[in-house]
Amino acid sequence: MRRQDVAVPSDDPDALLRADARHVWHPYAPMPAATAPYVVASARGTRLTLADGRELIDGMSSWWAAIHGYRHPALDAAITGQLGRMAHVMFGGLTHEPAVRLAERLVAITPKNLQHVFFSDSGSVAVEVAVKMAVQRWRAVGDTSKSRLLTIRGGYHGDTFMAMSVCDPVGGMHSLFTNVVTQQVFADRPPAGFGTPVDDAWVADVELLVKQHADELAAVIVEPVVQGAGGMHFYNPGYVTALRELCDRYDVLLVLDEIATGFGRTGAMFATEHAGVEPDILCLGKALTGGYLSLAATLCTREVADAISTGDGGALMHGPTFMANPLATAVAGASIGLLLASDWQHDVRRIEVGLRDGLAPLAQHNANVADVRVLGAIGVVQLTREVDIAAATQAAVDAGVWLRPFRDLVYTMPPYVSTDDDVARICAGVAAAVEAAGT
Ligand SMILES: *Cc1c(COP(=O)(O)O)cnc(C)c1O
Repeated sequence: MRRQDVAVPSDDPDALLRADARHVWHPYAPMPAATAPYVVASARGTRLTLADGRELIDGMSSWWAAIHGYRHPALDAAITGQLGRMAHVMFGGLTHEPAVRLAERLVAITPKNLQHVFFSDSGSVAVEVAVKMAVQRWRAVGDTSKSRLLTIRGGYHGDTFMAMSVCDPVGGMHSLFTNVVTQQVFADRPPAGFGTPVDDAWVADVELLVKQHADELAAVIVEPVVQGAGGMHFYNPGYVTALRELCDRYDVLLVLDEIATGFGRTGAMFATEHAGVEPDILCLGKALTGGYLSLAATLCTREVADAISTGDGGALMHGPTFMANPLATAVAGASIGLLLASDWQHDVRRIEVGLRDGLAPLAQHNANVADVRVLGAIGVVQLTREVDIAAATQAAVDAGVWLRPFRDLVYTMPPYVSTDDDVARICAGVAAAVEAAGT
């Protein structure tokens, strides 16, 4: 066996990139990736420092997660403090303070009917657990036919198989996995626009679908108000209310996936608050730890927990090895503490205004732009065609901004600690990316 050269001096980005291309698989990419990634040496606040010394303003919050920015002293302290006690301990038969305190906090800030918290290690797994809860809830009362899901097109719920089955069937990866991905029931997505009046015809169409499939539906699952990675589609909270009513009328559970929208991103602590709707099951992830570690949670009502716990089987059949990891739950508790102690509503509104001011002109001045939309600390520029991701990313980086466009979208969700100047510069980066994407 030939011994491979594994030593890479940290001051040599090119050697790192060569090793990366040899061994490291990146998300949604071939091996090696079609274009080389940028090497990040460190990050602080809203800035990423590349290995070549360039500094970028972060426009992505590391995929919705780093809401307080990087290396926040309070979050660093939560991790190092916990590290001094224990990095991890199994959760079967044992419990610990950071997990218990976090569960209490989550129950306190989410809709009040949600009382129980199941921790897992990623958003996709939180969705798997939500589906398991829903299916087990019906089996517990002897109903084995209610095992399918209804969702709306254009959604994104993760990359594991059950989560994939409720992602958009066209934009998702269904065509790569025909006969493997479970067939679910799809409704059209609600018409676009947070403030666009509710279209009763859409509600009537969905009612027909729910009614027709009620005997086999365990749950309806949607991202409330903002669909994220499925296409950055915003819709009227009234449709969440309508889905809640349909679920009640036809005896189907409502699962809300707030993995992207949770913790203030849309201007409400949870997007479902725009509708005042209480789901039966709620999925959280991404910003839960302030972007520090992988952690997710699935919350449910007493009714769901009781049915599962007293029915056939008598237990929820799930238990990740790293369930409720102490470092992750400690930093999550600290992140929520920071959020609640801050005037996050003001920050999100301030960023919303900055994004509107900075992005709106793009709709007027660029023929490649199909739509510009902003909600809370989310800014989206939709183009008339697919983005040349490498060219758009490079243009943003040249403008000093980190963005990661996809499909026909150049979008940003800045950390809440971004200054007005940061937001203006991010908008300039988006403009540069849009310019490059269309040429
Ligand atoms: C990111 C995301 C997921 C999946 O979370 P992972 O931690 O990437 O597994 C699920 N649902 C929504 C709405 C998401 O944005």
